[in-house]
Amino acid sequence: MIFDVAIVGAGPAGLSFARSLAGSGLDVALVETQSAARLADPPFDAREIALTHHSAHLLQKLGLWDLIPAEEIHTLRDAQVLDGSWLPGMFIDHREGPRPQLGYLVSNQLIRRAAFAAISGQDRLQLLCERRVTAIEPGTGHSRLRLSDGAQLDARLVVAADSRFSETRRAMGIPADSHDFGKTMLLCRMRHDKPHNQVAWEWFGHGQTIAVLPLKEHECSVVLTLRHTEIQELMTASEAGFASAMEQRFEHRLGNMELISTRHAYPLVGVYPRRFTAQRYALVGDAAVGMHPVTAHGFNFGLLGQDLLSGLIRPLAGRGDIASPAMLARYDRELRRATRPLYLATMMIVQLYTNDTRPARLLRRTVLSASARIPPLRRAVVHSVMQAGDSRIATRPLLGMLRSMRG
Ligand SMILES: Cc1cc2nc3c(=O)[nH]c(=O)nc-3n(C[C@H](O)[C@H](O)[C@H](O)COP(=O)(O)OP(=O)(O)OC[C@H]3O[C@@H](n4cnc5c(N)ncnc54)[C@H](O)[C@@H]3O)c2cc1C
Repeated sequence: MIFDVAIVGAGPAGLSFARSLAGSGLDVALVETQSAARLADPPFDAREIALTHHSAHLLQKLGLWDLIPAEEIHTLRDAQVLDGSWLPGMFIDHREGPRPQLGYLVSNQLIRRAAFAAISGQDRLQLLCERRVTAIEPGTGHSRLRLSDGAQLDARLVVAADSRFSETRRAMGIPADSHDFGKTMLLCRMRHDKPHNQVAWEWFGHGQTIAVLPLKEHECSVVLTLRHTEIQELMTASEAGFASAMEQRFEHRLGNMELISTRHAYPLVGVYPRRFTAQRYALVGDAAVGMHPVTAHGFNFGLLGQDLLSGLIRPLAGRGDIASPAMLARYDRELRRATRPLYLATMMIVQLYTNDTRPARLLRRTVLSASARIPPLRRAVVHSVMQAGDSRIATRPLLGMLRSMRG
């Protein structure tokens, strides 16, 4: 049998894309190294995904939103960007935008669980778990995937959702610009005395970056970025030692703090491929755009990309070649246009805010106060946080400002 679409990787992006093809009449195979039991009940990984309104809409369209318990969808009302001890920084106020809140926070674990539940029992979808795609051979009418169990699978279109370190992308000869930030991020949930008022923080301190993502009352997700060795020390510290270290790093802004989850560490690497497509092949999710988490857009772009691709191929089902060069070129063009500005802006923000030299400190303070004081810039920031249906419009003024300030 020749499948219409073979998806490599059942992470949140691959699962969402599989779901987006429900009812299309296309035969879909989804190949994943993990077991079905693990996909059905994924472990907590401490990632709290900040979702834009557009992403919430896409999750509703896919039928995933209603599978997430309402009490686990947290309000991201406003956000605050702080630079060292300089106050007040920049306050990103939802009232400058069209919605009653900037966005939502949902744990990655629950998104993955909902995505798997949504595809379970889906008609014309074959799930091949505990198998790895080991080779890919593109052909004129279809491509052939070789799997780790010795089986092979033919498909008209291969969609790779196999992570930012995508092996199939490499096998297809697609070059990618990747940047190792040389830092590691520690994530965990903490309970604290002082209220967060549903305000997220991004605090660029000297030698450290701290993000606070508001969850339930007096509970937040803490995201701390440091050198790997420093993170290792915090990962292995006792719970009490860790809590006290965090209180000090927070300068007691949240009062007493208590660790209430496991701790997880992620090395920071950004990846942007030169192309999103090749012969009968397309990238989605982190395989397409591997964002630095500081602007919280990785999965938002994953959702955007899968929706774009699905919207292009569904009308071709049963009518034309779903992997035609014209369709693939359009996907490549549109995804690049939607994601590249924010990818570049994110890289610049990270470089600017993790450089502790005096000129860099002066420059970022100027950037922050300009963004805080100039209404169009402030609104651009609010819209870039809220929308992310397309990062072009929202990031244009920010990119312009960052570029001109870098000289
Ligand atoms: C610390 C952190 C915080 C984040 N915060 C946010 C946020 O606030 N907002 C946001 O939008 N995004 C955020 N993200 C990004 C988000 O987590 C990712 O974009 C998303 O999880 C990527 O999903 P994916 O399906 O593309 O890839 P993955 O989750 O990496 O899944 C890839 C899957 O492919 C499988 N696979 C790999 N190779 C093969 C193979 N050869 N054969 C078969 N299967 C294979 C793997 O087993 C895996 O299941 C954050 C990321 C991090 C690290």
